[in-house]
Amino acid sequence: LGKNKAKIFMQEDIDIRFADVAGVDEAREELVEVVDFLKEPEKYTRLGGKIPRGTLLVGPPGTGKTMLSKAVAGESGVPFFSMSGSEFVEMFVGLGAARVRDLFEQAKKKAPCIIFIDELDALGKARGLGMAGGHDEREQTLNQLLVEMDGFDPNIGVILLAATNRPEILDPALLRPGRFDRNILVDRPDKAGREAILKIHLKNIKADPKIDVTVLAGMTPGMVGADLANLINEAALLAVRRNKSEVGMSELAEAVERVVAGLEKKNRLINPKERRIVAYHEMGHAIVAASLPGTDPVQKISIIPRGIAALGYTMQTPTEDRFLMSKTELLNRIATLLGGRAAEDIVFEDISTGAHNDLARATDIARSMVKEYGMSSTVGQVYFAREKNNQFLNFPQQGAAEYSQATAKLIDEEVKAIISRQYENAQEILKQAQHILERGAELLLENEKIEGEELQKLMR
Ligand code: ADP
Ligand code: MG
Ligand code: ZN
Repeated sequence: LGKNKAKIFMQEDIDIRFADVAGVDEAREELVEVVDFLKEPEKYTRLGGKIPRGTLLVGPPGTGKTMLSKAVAGESGVPFFSMSGSEFVEMFVGLGAARVRDLFEQAKKKAPCIIFIDELDALGKARGLGMAGGHDEREQTLNQLLVEMDGFDPNIGVILLAATNRPEILDPALLRPGRFDRNILVDRPDKAGREAILKIHLKNIKADPKIDVTVLAGMTPGMVGADLANLINEAALLAVRRNKSEVGMSELAEAVERVVAGLEKKNRLINPKERRIVAYHEMGHAIVAASLPGTDPVQKISIIPRGIAALGYTMQTPTEDRFLMSKTELLNRIATLLGGRAAEDIVFEDISTGAHNDLARATDIARSMVKEYGMSSTVGQVYFAREKNNQFLNFPQQGAAEYSQATAKLIDEEVKAIISRQYENAQEILKQAQHILERGAELLLENEKIEGEELQKLMR
């Protein structure tokens, strides 16, 4: 019973290669390095370099995480121990832990090799959550995994690879240095990525060579690899039903509609109206950031839903590591965060829930300015943040605040004043630049992303 149930694959068994996985180039490049290490460990260890013990693939379902891991196995030519997180956790207490031990035992004997744990979240959920006592078995299994990870020397050539859709529920202990300390984001593909994926899957069916894959990619915003594979399959079935000798654009277009309808039902696609809102929202952030001095340059704007929660994102890279921030910089940062909502307000004369994370972050900064950094002249150069310490006691502590109610009121008012001043500021900037906002949003809707340089050109 204590034997692990991992399936062991040898290279001959795996016919997936990196060339079969498209649209996730960054993730692929990082994994190529892992394969390279397995092939030529001396190259890395000779200079004293250490290989990361654990690599975690993170991304939404269907983006190709499992496929990428198999490609690692297919390319590296070493044994591949594959197991799903849920397979460790069983009815009997202690069994999962025994299996983990056995798995590492066997892997060490077969080194160099890869251990792959799919759906790591099933096993690695944070301890101490949920009902008290009910998760003994899972906790023991997780503890054993942590022990094993700490105990092995990666230089013997055992590489641990895992995948998850839900990194946010993982036990933080798993992510500490020396464990899964390398995260690879396997993100939703952009338009070019979808085109590449579609091409791969079109090869598997008999398709009309005149099909315009670029157009097809443009029709499938938000879809991941699995959706696209499904789409091609649907089209093939439709063609059969219509007694056609090959799959044409009309079947593909109809398949798109079906897949979209299915995904919309599952709430996994954003509809065109929402897409427009997201485009203006993200442009709002970007234009405010680009207009204010001392903000980090915008590197990329995208309306491809990223990760689990965000509908779009505007990426800013800091030009240097910062330890001190001036008041002006903090205010500019707040204005940038509010730029998304300000744009929605101007363009649609309505606002959406899409800004709640922005608001939370802006409010955090404003509150810190008032309570911690003494940056409000009304409240003064005083530090008021002490009651924060007791974050684990979730009942209100009587008398814990070290300031009067009058001060509390003053703080609240000042935070609100900072936020509304910066909101006005953001709106002012965006009204001046409304033609850029319109043009940028159009570009975003068309291409799904705008690179930093393109934005600068637009701004000029
Ligand atoms: P995940 O593990 O991220 O949920 P999978 O790797 O299981 O996703 O992908 C499911 C299927 O979707 C794959 O077998 C493949 O047919 C298709 N697929 C997903 N991503 C890609 C991709 N990037 N390139 C080509 N096909 C993909
Ligand atoms: Mg998977
Ligand atoms: Zn936003």
